[in-house]
Amino acid sequence: MRLSFLGGAGEVTGSCTLVETGDVRFLVDCGMFQGGHDAWAKNLAALAFDLRHLDFVLLTHAHIDHSGLLPRLAALGYAGPIHVTATTAELLEVMLLDSAHLQEKDAEWRSRHRDARRQHPMAPLYTVNQANACLSQLRTIAYETEFRPHPAVACRFHDAGHILGSAIVDVRVRTASGTRRLVFSGDLGQAANGLLPAPARVDGADVLLIESTYGNRLHKTPEETQAELLAAIAGTLAKGNVIIPAFAVGRTQAVLYALAELARAGRLPPLRVFIDSPMAEKATLITRRHLELLAPRVHELDHWVRSNPGEFQLRYTHEVEESKALNQITSGAIIISASGMCDAGRIKHHLRWNLPRSACAVLITGFQAEGTLGRRLVDGARNVRIFNDDIPVRARLHTIGGLSAHADRDGLLSWLRGFAHAPGHTFVVHGERETAAGFAGEVKKQLGWTAVEAPQRGDTQVL
Ligand SMILES: [Zn+2]
Repeated sequence: MRLSFLGGAGEVTGSCTLVETGDVRFLVDCGMFQGGHDAWAKNLAALAFDLRHLDFVLLTHAHIDHSGLLPRLAALGYAGPIHVTATTAELLEVMLLDSAHLQEKDAEWRSRHRDARRQHPMAPLYTVNQANACLSQLRTIAYETEFRPHPAVACRFHDAGHILGSAIVDVRVRTASGTRRLVFSGDLGQAANGLLPAPARVDGADVLLIESTYGNRLHKTPEETQAELLAAIAGTLAKGNVIIPAFAVGRTQAVLYALAELARAGRLPPLRVFIDSPMAEKATLITRRHLELLAPRVHELDHWVRSNPGEFQLRYTHEVEESKALNQITSGAIIISASGMCDAGRIKHHLRWNLPRSACAVLITGFQAEGTLGRRLVDGARNVRIFNDDIPVRARLHTIGGLSAHADRDGLLSWLRGFAHAPGHTFVVHGERETAAGFAGEVKKQLGWTAVEAPQRGDTQVL
């Protein structure tokens, strides 16, 4: 059996693993590379293998860094099934179409500025039509239901508790030397954030791939996170706005319910919250349709939000004009917008208007990959470039890690402790190079597992 780490190894985006045996070839995840000057080139160069012999694709969850190249895979010639959970399929429809739309807009921008950017091809990575075509290849499977995407393969999705529909992918493959069990953790949720159930336990694997986004960090407790949110928001709204870049799926809803919890407890004044991202709106509406998948506490909060518009004014802005109108508000608004790493979308406008004002605050609630505008802000940049303008950073910056949809180091270790025996091979993926290597060392030290490695993009392992 051969494993090729095509992306999301030694980095946090572009998750994609190719598994090949004598009989079968399949991919787990097909993510887009994001952030950094070379992301475009990496996306363009990705999937450079013979797609005709790919049997099927398994997807852990809808986030673009795990799913964003699916339309490109289809556009390049893959016509087979893509197995996902039903909620992931619902979210993908929103996310892949949005991503395609951004690709098209980006390509348009590049052709207008072609003199400056001659090195980039003009065609989008994929079009809205291609994304639509790829959606027809989705096959939905319920959690804990065995399915056979190939006569030699049996799979199951377990709830990963990361975002709606997220799955740990559990695969049994028949090979010439017997049946091997491969477990792909995907992104694992943090049980303490209370929005989703804790990640399902898995008791064994011959080969395990585990994410390590926060493999070198510990999150704050829910109480500490609430105190941080209060400190960041309470003093700001009288004179300024609070800008929250957030991933449309998962983080936006976590932020929303965390704010609602503080407002309901009377710890914040009545709030005016704007969700300014069409995708975040759709994802929030999908979330509110699937309250049964969330923790019971969230049902109550959602009910409270619906019944107390005076205490918690929630508005979605649809049109670009409505979004622009938010720039006229100088104080009292909480604006949640995407993209989560500040690299694209409407958030860039809000940062452009609010970053230069010392009365405002920016709350960073998610992981910021190297090379992104969000990372430059977290790293303390005093000036940033947005839309070709130099923007001074005078707003206060708060990093609030506790709302993360990822398990922290101890959360990951605790999930690994559910294994009855050390897997034959453990690969630490989906973490920046040093984080992944550090976490691999931690697993060896704390669990006594010996065959633990942190592969890099492009590595291949024959097992
Ligand atoms: Zn994710």
